[in-house]
Amino acid sequence: MLRRVVESSTKRLLRQRNGALARSRSQQPKRGFAVDAKSYPIVDHTYDAIVVGAGGAGLRAAIGLSETGFTTACITKLFPTRSHTVAAQGGINAALGNMTEDDWRWHMYDTVKGSDWLGDQDAIQYMCREAPKAVIELENYGLPFSRTEDGKIYQRAFGGQSLNFGKGGQAYRCAAAADRTGHAMLHTLYGQAMKHNTQFFVEYFALDLIMDEQGACRGVIALNMEDGTLHRFRAMNTILATGGYGRAYFSATSAHTCTGDGNAMAARAGIPLQDLEFVQFHPTGIYGAGCLITEGSRGEGGILRNSEGERFMERYAPTAKDLASRDVVSRSMTMEIREGRGVGPEKDHIYLHLNHLPPEVLKERLPGISETAAIFAGVDVTKEPIPVLPTVHYNMGGIPTNYHGEVLTKKGDDPDCMIPGLMAAGEAACASVHGANRLGANSLLDIVIFGRACANRVAEMFKPGQKQPELPKDAGEKTIAWLDKLRYANGDIPTANIRNKMQRVMQNNAAVFRTQETLEEGCKLIDETVDSLSRVKTNDRSLTWNTDLIETIELENLLINASVTMHSAEARKESRGAHAREDFTTRDDEKWMKHTLGYWENDRVRLDYRPVHMNTLDDEVETFPPKARVY
Ligand SMILES: Cc1cc2nc3c(=O)[nH]c(=O)nc-3n(C[C@H](O)[C@H](O)[C@H](O)COP(=O)(O)OP(=O)(O)OC[C@H]3O[C@@H](n4cnc5c(N)ncnc54)[C@H](O)[C@@H]3O)c2cc1C
Repeated sequence: MLRRVVESSTKRLLRQRNGALARSRSQQPKRGFAVDAKSYPIVDHTYDAIVVGAGGAGLRAAIGLSETGFTTACITKLFPTRSHTVAAQGGINAALGNMTEDDWRWHMYDTVKGSDWLGDQDAIQYMCREAPKAVIELENYGLPFSRTEDGKIYQRAFGGQSLNFGKGGQAYRCAAAADRTGHAMLHTLYGQAMKHNTQFFVEYFALDLIMDEQGACRGVIALNMEDGTLHRFRAMNTILATGGYGRAYFSATSAHTCTGDGNAMAARAGIPLQDLEFVQFHPTGIYGAGCLITEGSRGEGGILRNSEGERFMERYAPTAKDLASRDVVSRSMTMEIREGRGVGPEKDHIYLHLNHLPPEVLKERLPGISETAAIFAGVDVTKEPIPVLPTVHYNMGGIPTNYHGEVLTKKGDDPDCMIPGLMAAGEAACASVHGANRLGANSLLDIVIFGRACANRVAEMFKPGQKQPELPKDAGEKTIAWLDKLRYANGDIPTANIRNKMQRVMQNNAAVFRTQETLEEGCKLIDETVDSLSRVKTNDRSLTWNTDLIETIELENLLINASVTMHSAEARKESRGAHAREDFTTRDDEKWMKHTLGYWENDRVRLDYRPVHMNTLDDEVETFPPKARVY
């Protein structure tokens, strides 16, 4: 049994830490695979609720919980304001109607269409209906939105957004704080969380969920990266808000910390990952650097041109043109490049022109990307075009949940079976509001809506201070054995080499366009990469800021996400949203209007499926039946 140390004074913690370090130095196993759980002191904590992640989703959940009186721990591997949400540029959608008349039902229609009819319509209704309230709430929290002349929240045009169920032209629905909306949002939410006394555990790395024999979640086990102590957090409710896994790919707009840890934690606990084959490529990553140039730049009038100077989007999407949905624009760009109309010496990218826009608009509405283009592409946007290329940007798939944020799995005939004690929100979750393709500015919305929904649901179902069962006796033991194994891993392949292999395989074999051949090869290569993890070599044996160990854990987490992505993509024999197959070019609703479930079992993927929710919540709006998706 593990040595159990109850949470106590700093002095005692320090003594434990020093003891652990001394022991860890003197007791290094020779080959390193022997588990010595006793040499890892454990600190136990009890809270009403735990939130893992301090991005927009985690913070919004933590605020709601703390505000209602639940003792709430927010565990985060990054300082909260460094979470990837900080990088969001364009804005957040809500039918506020500040620029033109608007209606949340029109927003819902666009989202269902954007999802290519893979999104759950009950969850989409919930998100779009609640959106105006959530944005006003952010305004009241102090988020410094850009303003119209008459002082209302400024809203810009964004891809895939229309008026009157696609018949009324472009909608202006994306509320923005210049081109730094995520930055403004994250700082505002962090301030609110501090106000409501959320207890932060900063630079704590959550390793695994603690599950009991009945399959309920009882908390998490985490590593304090600063001193190497392990912490068991017990709670009635655990909310995973750990973000996406863009870093499974070689070129991604997401931060190096987006490694799908929460997804992997769920997968290791036997929970399926849903719809991972749907990976969004953003049309405008800077060529070579991968940094994002927001869709808001096209919303403000930016135009894509090929080597002939042609505005080619007019051919692919005659109505929406450059503001067609992201999957459509990314595919069109790839086609142009393939057909020899790319720009640059290698003819392998496309130009984004902003130089025809008034300099005042660039200065006021797009200051951040003007700076990014200067630094990373050496371009003065007032004079020259920006070289761009589709770049991995967002994961539509994740941990399956209902619209309350409760995590679901499939048991027998029940495709919506709840995992007691476990919720998920944000990019880590799959509610599923984005289905096969997320619309720009719907993710900042998703994170606040479902972070808030999780907190509301806990408040509905539980009371602060509710008595909790003891943790299972062996809680965390398996995780410590795993940690110990990686810490002393003495194989012949460095972590970075395995990561590089994984990223190349994903980039080449699960790209914008896919075929049976590339995907089958991808499955073989990614399985081999998973197997090569048994030969990983780490060098740092200490527990103090062991980035070598952390990167190796992140790699293992990424590999789970990558494998499920590749195998799910290979199995899906149709084209839908971001999943574009050259051998199955059309959507097949009869066979494939269903969510993929990828289970992680013995280092391999097992697939199953569950139905899409076509129902709406009530008669305020009717189901949008599937039809062809044209822009
Ligand atoms: C460059 C860029 C621009 C974008 N622009 C927009 C936009 O304009 N509009 C829009 O709607 N969407 C945009 N998106 C998408 C959107 O920003 C993200 O999907 C969203 O912010 C994700 O929020 P999140 O709270 O789910 O996760 P994140 O903000 O990624 O936060 C994850 C949190 O989990 C924590 N965490 C992760 N793993 C662990 C672990 N093992 N232990 C402890 N803590 C852990 C991290 O510390 C972090 O706090 C953009 C994305 C990118 C990359």
